[in-house]
Amino acid sequence: SSVATPGPTIFDKIISKEIKADIIYEDEFCLAFNDISPQAPVHFLVIPKKRIPRLQDCESSDKELLGHLMIVARSLGGERAPAGWRLVINNGRHGAQSVYHLHLHVLGGRQLGWPPG
Ligand code: 5GP
Repeated sequence: SSVATPGPTIFDKIISKEIKADIIYEDEFCLAFNDISPQAPVHFLVIPKKRIPRLQDCESSDKELLGHLMIVARSLGGERAPAGWRLVINNGRHGAQSVYHLHLHVLGGRQLGWPPG
């Protein structure tokens, strides 16, 4: 599939520390930081350091990286929202994606509703 909006985003500047973020975890492959506009008491993002615009743009060779992001999300989610949490990936325009650098939202710390709007 084609890349929606290739090129650097604000998340590249968070990765390079040009822009400050409330970083809660970092390793060689990913970064997790609190969302600047939290939609729940716990709301952080897990992003790959590799620039992948959308989940749609991933390839089979990203399998290990994608698994790693989920493993990190579940570790941090379990620590910060032990009563449960939600993993969200907004993909593309209809998915309400606003930053075109792949990110996993982890939301928790309160009872969440379903389905989403
Ligand atoms: P999307 O709608 O693309 O799935 O979500 C992007 C998320 O990134 C939003 O929840 C938004 O609040 C968050 N965000 C956008 N810019 C920044 C920023 O500069 N710092 C942080 N910490 N979060 C950001």
